[in-house]
Amino acid sequence: MAEPAAAETSLSAAILVVGGGIAGMTAAIEASEVGKEVILVEKGPSLGGAVARINQYFPKLCPPYCGMEMNYRRLRNNPKVRILTLAEVENISGAAGSYKVQIRRNPRFINEKCTACGECAKVCEIERDNEYNWGMDKTKAVYLPHEMAYPMRYLVDPAIAGDERMKACVEACEYGAFELEQKPVTLTATVGSIIWATGWEPYDAGKLDTLGFGKLPNVINNVMMERLAAQNGPTEGKIVRPSDGGEISSIAFVQCAGSRDDNHLPYCSSVCCMVSMKQATYIRERYPEADVYIFYIDIRSPGRLEDFYQKMQADEKIHFLRGKVGKITDAGNGDVTLEAEDTLTGKLQKVTVNMAILATGMVPATAAAKPPVDVPLDEYGFMLADGNPGVIGTGTTVRPVEVAATVQDATGAALKGIIVAKGVN
Ligand SMILES: Cc1cc2nc3c(=O)[nH]c(=O)nc-3n(C[C@H](O)[C@H](O)[C@H](O)COP(=O)(O)OP(=O)(O)OC[C@H]3O[C@@H](n4cnc5c(N)ncnc54)[C@H](O)[C@@H]3O)c2cc1C
Repeated sequence: MAEPAAAETSLSAAILVVGGGIAGMTAAIEASEVGKEVILVEKGPSLGGAVARINQYFPKLCPPYCGMEMNYRRLRNNPKVRILTLAEVENISGAAGSYKVQIRRNPRFINEKCTACGECAKVCEIERDNEYNWGMDKTKAVYLPHEMAYPMRYLVDPAIAGDERMKACVEACEYGAFELEQKPVTLTATVGSIIWATGWEPYDAGKLDTLGFGKLPNVINNVMMERLAAQNGPTEGKIVRPSDGGEISSIAFVQCAGSRDDNHLPYCSSVCCMVSMKQATYIRERYPEADVYIFYIDIRSPGRLEDFYQKMQADEKIHFLRGKVGKITDAGNGDVTLEAEDTLTGKLQKVTVNMAILATGMVPATAAAKPPVDVPLDEYGFMLADGNPGVIGTGTTVRPVEVAATVQDATGAALKGIIVAKGVN
């Protein structure tokens, strides 16, 4: 990995890739491996995006880190990709073939001498919410984003960098890696084309005011479920009730929680049915006696994914109930009752379970943070793929899709980026 030195404030490359999730990493790797210089800008402290938070991939149920590590290796040995983490694009001027871009690089407060030994965190007295686990646990104020982070380097929470108690951490570092005086830096980059891959955020389940999210502790969303199931999650992979750490004998998944609903997200996020069926396998593996209820409007498992659906249907402990859940209420002892109306018969169904998972959809990051350049977005905030010839949207920036489709799309975006950048290397 080639990370620009702190003093380097002027860069140039054929292609700028914004967003270091699977889409951005793929585009950067593919373009650089045919000889193009690439700058990859990621706003978080490490690459990987949402995929780095998934426990297992559907439908094969393998851990995403196999593939992710291969991508990290391709980047590690690749001098043509300059990676900027904790960075965001502030301004873009120019036109296709020749853009000038201002990039703000926020301080990490720890330099490249860090070996990730963790001695600083051991003596750190201050804690903060762990956003990697959706706030379900805490980290120290000096922390590694997660065990597989890339770059594998600690950082300091900016809210705490000035705290007197950081002195103990600085003294514990035998490599002299702390730089608490670091300030944000603005870099200027000239590039031929831009690939926008800022991905998605989960729909805010708090807006679904009858479904209990944020009010009933045992109602969580699907991204939290991924972290609960993960070995490096807040419960070390034990799927237990947030309210009391209790085991599960029954659980319900609520499909289309806010999706395909004119009051929330009118579109289908395309992955949620597969995600819930995958998460049902997490429960079946840990709790073979537990009953799993999946409330759905219709199950969307296109192409070969239908095989996975059929396997789930054949499982006598997984119960598919047709109906849109309208209400989740407290049933006492932490249990929750779901009420749904069968969309075909109109019949009301009620089920009481230990815990409920809301399968919320994907909202493009561009809906809240529009790129600072003239690119058309659709009514939901997704980028129009061909809206600006020099700024190419890819992955979940343009539509909600799974990883395989994201990788294919990002490979195509790399090719478009190369063509637009023309003679620029
Ligand atoms: C609960 C859940 C489970 C899933 N499980 C699976 C599964 O098992 N199999 C599967 O194939 N798919 C799964 N998916 C879908 C998968 O998560 C997406 O396909 C994938 O994340 C898309 O990658 P991306 O790079 O487009 O976006 P992201 O993963 O969102 O990456 C975007 C990156 O851009 C960065 N970024 C955002 N804004 C900026 C900015 N302004 N500047 C710089 N950087 C920025 C972000 O920090 C992030 O690193 C799941 C989705 C959900 C909701």
